[in-house]
Amino acid sequence: MQQYFSGLAKDKQEKILNSTLLVYECEGTESEIKEWFKTINIVGVPLNEQELLNAVYSGPFVTLGKEEFSNSQNSNVQKWSAYISGSVDRQDFWERALEWVSGGNAGDYMSRHRFDTNIKEVKTYFNTVIDWVSGTFADVENEMRGLEWGRLYEEYHDKSYNPRELSEKIQQLYGDPYVKNRKGIWEYVLGGSQNPNLLDVRVFDDATKKSTYVAQTKAAEKKGVSNCPLCATGHDANKTKIWALKDMDADHVDAWSRGGKTSPENCQMLCKTHNRAKGNR
Ligand SMILES: [Zn+2]
Repeated sequence: MQQYFSGLAKDKQEKILNSTLLVYECEGTESEIKEWFKTINIVGVPLNEQELLNAVYSGPFVTLGKEEFSNSQNSNVQKWSAYISGSVDRQDFWERALEWVSGGNAGDYMSRHRFDTNIKEVKTYFNTVIDWVSGTFADVENEMRGLEWGRLYEEYHDKSYNPRELSEKIQQLYGDPYVKNRKGIWEYVLGGSQNPNLLDVRVFDDATKKSTYVAQTKAAEKKGVSNCPLCATGHDANKTKIWALKDMDADHVDAWSRGGKTSPENCQMLCKTHNRAKGNR
């Protein structure tokens, strides 16, 4: 069992050594050993997932990985911290590095590389992702910390971007009061500003919808046309249909993605079919 302790911090080792559970002989498969460590967890300071993996797959590979990624003396930690949340003590950088290189199967990866005497592949891939992020995005914002950079790298690194243009777009979105989810800004611009759902753009409130509906319906009734402006220009039975409020949705007259505001003067009510057809942009 002793060999598994080397992957743990000193205080954790002591906790386990002091634990009465040590009376159990521990010889078994990796998954049995992992279960054993989880049991030990109950009595000591809980090990997090990566600490468990380090213990289960302890060996030269984990030792080298921790020297690089769980080492507060490493001068790169500050740079990494701009994009990765967590700390060296809790194995967060090591965990990300393994997650990225393995595509989310850190356990498998560690099992396969357990007795490797280098961590070249992990290190190279990790640095490639970090360099891509810092090279693509000139500015560092708080919301960038902890984004799924491994996935974003895989999805978007083949495309070319103009960092200056991206920076301008990001600053504009960052200052836009209608953007509720700032963390979505980076993926939004990487995807060519096509998917506003990522930004959780503020929608029209009920009072605005109601007053727009009333004004629009009144005017439509006067003209004898549908209160959905798109139905009114059509040629079918809905041309003169007066929809109930519950059968309509609010739409940006000037699309939000082209600078239109979420304000009463830019609100129009459309029947649900037309609103869906127009796309909620
Ligand atoms: Zn309509």
